Order: sequence, then structure tokens, then C-alpha cells
Amino acid sequence: MMNKICCFLLACLSIVGVHAADVPAGSERTLSIIKPDAVATNHVGAIISRFEKSGLRVVNLRMVNLTKDQAAAFYAVHKERPFYNSLVDFMSSGPVVAITLEGPNAVAKNRELMGATDPKKAAPGTLRADFAESVERNAVHGSDSNEAAVTEIAFFFDKNNRKISCD
Ligand code: UDP
Ligand code: MG
Repeated sequence: MMNKICCFLLACLSIVGVHAADVPAGSERTLSIIKPDAVATNHVGAIISRFEKSGLRVVNLRMVNLTKDQAAAFYAVHKERPFYNSLVDFMSSGPVVAITLEGPNAVAKNRELMGATDPKKAAPGTLRADFAESVERNAVHGSDSNEAAVTEIAFFFDKNNRKISCD
């Protein structure tokens, strides 16, 4: 019994310890994806530069060609929406760059940098106002909550910076 309690406490401590060591106090993480349109138009560097200039830190990054199944899984939350099949085709049409960003209020800050989903409605100076082609081909993805960020980061990365679900 004592052994079980000790194991449980050690497991709790290691989870807390890993988290504290990974993400600095006052910071959070979010997932950005530079979508196939922005990769094809050579805007990878400009987009990452905006993140860094805003104070967000790139803590993980990889380029990947999503299969249709992977794109469908990533966007499963939208599977009932009329644009889903087209979105899946688009997201698997060429390489994307998945990036873990870190900093204070990273989720909200990234969404602010991105601008509205429809570039026609995106505020001037936002990534979508400057680089998006249309409401579908809109340059970047960003997690919309801390819960989504955890799931989405885990889709592309593990804590040791190895790819997992996209092999
Ligand atoms: N999308 C689309 N048509 C729409 C709405 C969204 O093709 O009418 C695509 C677009 O690429 C968008 C993605 O689906 O980025 C996910 O939609 P969401 O509403 O989550 O927008 P986001 O969070 O990316 O701003
Ligand atoms: Mg969204």
C-alpha cells in the first residue's frame, strides 16, 4: 500500500516537475501552422519573423506534407462543416510548417497576429491581411484555446522534439 502511495506521489511530482521545467512561469504554448499557400508563396520567413518580433519564441518546428487522413484528423472538429473536404484537400496539397510558439498569452497573441479567418475581414497588418489568398487559403492556423494547443502540439511533436503522429 505504502509503495503504491509513494509511486503515485512520485508520478505526480514528475508531471509537475516536467511541466515547470518545460514552460517558463507566466508563459504558455500554442501551435501555429504555416499553411500550403504561404509556404508556396515563400512567406515562411516573414511569418516566423512576425512571431519573433512580437516576443513569441519558436520552441519547436518541422516541415511536413500531411496526408489526407492526417489533415482530416487534425481538422476533425470541423467534419460537419460544408468546407471540410475542401479544407482537407488544401491542407494536404503541399508542405506545411508546424511551429510550437511559447510566451506570455501565446494563444491569444498568436490569434491577434493572425487576424480574422477571412482575410477580407482581417485587421491591417495581420498575417492573414498580408499573406492570405482567401477564407480557405488563409496562410496560417493557430490554436484557439490552451486545451486545443495541448492536443494540437501533441499531433506534431513529442516533448523530445520527435515527430509522432505524422511519421
Ligand atoms: N475555412 C474555410 N471556409 C470557412 C471557414 C473556415 O475554408 O468558411 C477554413 C480556413 O482555412 C480556416 C479553417 O477552415 O482557417 C478552420 O476554420 P476556423 O473557423 O477554425 O478558423 P480559424 O480558427 O483558422 O480562424
Ligand atoms: Mg480554428
